[in-house]
Amino acid sequence: MVKAENVHKSFGRLEVLRGIDLEVRQGEVCCVIGPSGSGKSTFLRCINHLEKVNAGRIWVDGDLIGYRERGGKLYELREKDVAAQRRGIGMVFQRFNLFPHMTVLENVMEAPLRVRGESKAEVRERALRLLDRVGLSAKVDTYPGQCSGGQQQRVAIARALAMRPKLMLFDEPTSALDPELVGEVLDVMKDLAAEGMTMIVVTHEIGFAREVGDSLVFMDGGVVVESGGPRDVIANPRHERTRSFLKKVL
Ligand code: ATP
Ligand code: MG
Repeated sequence: MVKAENVHKSFGRLEVLRGIDLEVRQGEVCCVIGPSGSGKSTFLRCINHLEKVNAGRIWVDGDLIGYRERGGKLYELREKDVAAQRRGIGMVFQRFNLFPHMTVLENVMEAPLRVRGESKAEVRERALRLLDRVGLSAKVDTYPGQCSGGQQQRVAIARALAMRPKLMLFDEPTSALDPELVGEVLDVMKDLAAEGMTMIVVTHEIGFAREVGDSLVFMDGGVVVESGGPRDVIANPRHERTRSFLKKVL
């Protein structure tokens, strides 16, 4: 479902990604850990072309992200084709970024109403179903400011799902939450994984990675230092850098 090959990304002279290779199969959950500044967020942003790679390629569901290949050459896609690719990829950030002046329901309906040729009734129906699924039926008519952080993050997940993505990217979705609210968000993500969603999750919730992840990737200095089955990587890290990082987060 996702394949990254030799992905490089620099900001000016700062080389942030130095050849990332990664593969995630349909229905799998790939968890990514690594120290601050190792390039985790940058890599997620490259997957939906919020950042342009300097070298390497990324495919999502067989589509080369951001480019078309013809006769061995790469041509940049037009903005509307990039937008179409992005629609298939849901993203949830550390900060929920909900629209404060819209109700919970309106937040979830906004994107599908803007970009798709669906009726308002269909979109509303789906939004209500999704909000029910994340346990927020009682909150549909409230505003984000009246919701807890955990509720807001669940709205953000429902909002991403409203576009019917093939892939969900999560960038430290629980790290801005009070500890007692982390569980309700992880539970929603666990359900999503059980329903077969393909997910890449940057997280320091090692318990979640161990329990829900199909693979665990440790990034440091813009490269994948090691990856494998989560239990294996956590119990028997092969590299010193992985060992010392795990010691800090466990
Ligand atoms: P954290 O765990 O703190 O979220 P991260 O692994 O997600 O870290 P990134 O946010 O990908 O790390 O950042 C990697 C490096 O790239 C950092 O040194 C950061 O300052 C730099 N960086 C990220 N985005 C930009 C940008 N738009 N312009 C310049 N430098 C950037
Ligand atoms: Mg980050």
